[in-house]
Amino acid sequence: MHEVTVGMKHLADYKTVIGDERYDELRALAAAAKGRSMVHINATAYGGGVAEILQNLIPLLRDAGVDAHWWVLDAPAEFFDITKKLHNALQGMPLELSERERSLFLDVSRENAAAMPRADVVLAHDPQAVALHHFASTKAAGWVWRCHIDLTTAHQPVWSFLRPFVQEHDASIWTMPQFVRPDLGSQRVLIQTPTIDPLSEKNRGMPIADAREIVKRLGIDVDRPILLQVSRFDPWKDPLGVIDAYRLAKRNVPGVQLVMIGSLADDDPEGAEYLAKTKAHAGDDKDVHVFTNLDGVKDREVSASQIVSTIVLQKSLREGFGLVVAEALWKGIPVIGGNVGGIVVQIEDGVSGFLVSSVEETAKRAVQLLKDAGMRRRMADAGRERVRDRFLITRDLRDQLQLVASLSRAHDRTG
Ligand code: UDP
Repeated sequence: MHEVTVGMKHLADYKTVIGDERYDELRALAAAAKGRSMVHINATAYGGGVAEILQNLIPLLRDAGVDAHWWVLDAPAEFFDITKKLHNALQGMPLELSERERSLFLDVSRENAAAMPRADVVLAHDPQAVALHHFASTKAAGWVWRCHIDLTTAHQPVWSFLRPFVQEHDASIWTMPQFVRPDLGSQRVLIQTPTIDPLSEKNRGMPIADAREIVKRLGIDVDRPILLQVSRFDPWKDPLGVIDAYRLAKRNVPGVQLVMIGSLADDDPEGAEYLAKTKAHAGDDKDVHVFTNLDGVKDREVSASQIVSTIVLQKSLREGFGLVVAEALWKGIPVIGGNVGGIVVQIEDGVSGFLVSSVEETAKRAVQLLKDAGMRRRMADAGRERVRDRFLITRDLRDQLQLVASLSRAHDRTG
């Protein structure tokens, strides 16, 4: 494994966003965690929600006094084919894991564990990093596994294969209580949602005129309504269903356009295939715009697109959390999201957006919102407050500081 370089952030900059009381609480927690070391490990430095979170959280942990680092697994492409299959199976797809696949998964875990840095607390993210603890000789004060996946309908044989590795950790973190498998046992379980950074390039906002200019340069007509989905090209994000819903909505609102932006994550081998499927499904419709990071559509362009869109869609069929929902709500854009997983904790149906379960429902809600500017404004205000309350990175930082302090203290007592 190798370390990822991150930028610098200053906790003091967040004071105006979260207010004095929450800021002072963070400072007190930081004092208790100061001087401890922490390593986060995941599968990719780019693409997807976990990379997004770590890139923002690690600098803040450092500014708070924790010696925090972010390490990424080194693995051959075949390992990521296997872990994507594990991911799909945990979200409900049946999977027969071959003996060869199991041993490759374990061999790569063993090799990476041998390269582990020392730390007081290790936080391993998702199935890709779940077996590191098993093979690691590093004596950390605490090992925690964080699951970012929607496990409500996990394929049991695959979960049974992974469960013993999860159980070896001192604690596990889940986004929702419903994701915790009933046979996990007596492990310390924490429920914590992921969060967004209000001051990152993607979320700090920009003048609307700049956003319009950036989006115009992508070839989109900013004077007509825009539906936007920002997602990896992945079956669970239902890109084809998004296109079908747009087509239905267009019958009622002929001027509507659809923008789909998706990064190709390093650890997602299905990305290119689903991108091709999406483009084929869109056909030659000039009002459907599909972009990836390879087209130069990065944080600034994602942010601008979110800001100028009329409605954001996140029509997932399974979703661990869906940072893109919080990102849009924070920018005051109403979201129509799949009635699944972590989207449900972000959108209050009918208040900060709509929860939907089909293409038809998505189209119906889109038309309703496209035609009602007053409703869009009301939902936008409600959505932004919900994010401020629960889904800003300072909340994640608070949870992490508590974790570092409590695991290190427990270790001091016993070790
Ligand atoms: N993202 C991006 N560019 C893209 C697609 C996604 O920057 O083309 C970001 C998006 O803004 C969000 C993250 O990647 O911050 C995706 O996280 P989410 O939790 O929504 O989904 P995941 O990919 O983890 O399933």
